[in-house]
Amino acid sequence: MEPGEPREPQEPREPGPGAETAAAPPKPQNAVTIAVSSRALFRMDEEQRIYTEQGVEEYVRYQLEHENEPFSPGPAFPFVKVREQFLRYPGLTLASPGSSTSFPDLFIERFCMTGGNSPICYLKAYHTNLYLSADAEKVREAIDEGIAAATIFSPSRDVVVSQSQLRVAFDGDAVLFSDESERIVKAHGLDRFFEHEKAHENKPLAQGPLKGFLEALGRLQKKFYSKGLRLECPIRTYLVTARSAASSGARALKTLRSWGLETDEALFLAGAPKGPLLEKIRPHIFFDDQMFHVAGAQEMGTVAAHVPYGVAQTPRRTAPAKQAPSAQ
Ligand SMILES: [Mg+2]
Repeated sequence: MEPGEPREPQEPREPGPGAETAAAPPKPQNAVTIAVSSRALFRMDEEQRIYTEQGVEEYVRYQLEHENEPFSPGPAFPFVKVREQFLRYPGLTLASPGSSTSFPDLFIERFCMTGGNSPICYLKAYHTNLYLSADAEKVREAIDEGIAAATIFSPSRDVVVSQSQLRVAFDGDAVLFSDESERIVKAHGLDRFFEHEKAHENKPLAQGPLKGFLEALGRLQKKFYSKGLRLECPIRTYLVTARSAASSGARALKTLRSWGLETDEALFLAGAPKGPLLEKIRPHIFFDDQMFHVAGAQEMGTVAAHVPYGVAQTPRRTAPAKQAPSAQ
């Protein structure tokens, strides 16, 4: 047993009332696979403190002493929990490997206990569409391997989110798109950026690290759209970008269209803070590459996740901070 990892995998539950059929595990190409680390799924502050201050043996002892006490929900919990809505629809199952559970009300299909080693090498084998962790170093490692990944943070206060519809909000540049336009802002300022985007309006941006995750969600959505069930679709996606609708926004929309993708809503803030708008959307998760947008969303009660990609990142540390073995 891995220190910090729970102890006994639970048997999969049967789908709840209203299920159309028992949910057999979907083929990887038909599922959206989300890997969530223990510390993202559960609150493990005390476990992390003991590991850091008292070492691994005390950490193991503490875990064994408390193995029958369920963890409190962590920031990724609502995101994973709403997944159960999909069990009502055959073939539309979100899987959640890479973590563990002693939470009595959660269905986790697969576990990955890595003995303190990095789980990143297993993510591709699991056909992972998204990896969420509390450990920024592991997330960077996953991004470097071409896996959509983000460091997830708890909001400053609890906000009620939908229990029946998964809402996912994405920043554009350096999240869905590459950071090529942000590099121009950094190097030459906003005026040059507007000129550049106008001149290249019909040239799609290169893809960013989370494009594949939007694509995977879009595949599920299209199953509803093709049956005329757009309004009943249990997934809703949002583009929440600092771009302006009047100028640089056109290239973002045309890029998505060139990929055969769309978001249900596209919100162009022209540099305004994102937090107040996200407070209205109430997404289960919001992705951004810039920490001040992540912090602004957190302050307004949104579960926000940082995508460590692109020119906005601070220089990497040379040595990772000490982490408990299971805290990925
Ligand atoms: Mg950005």
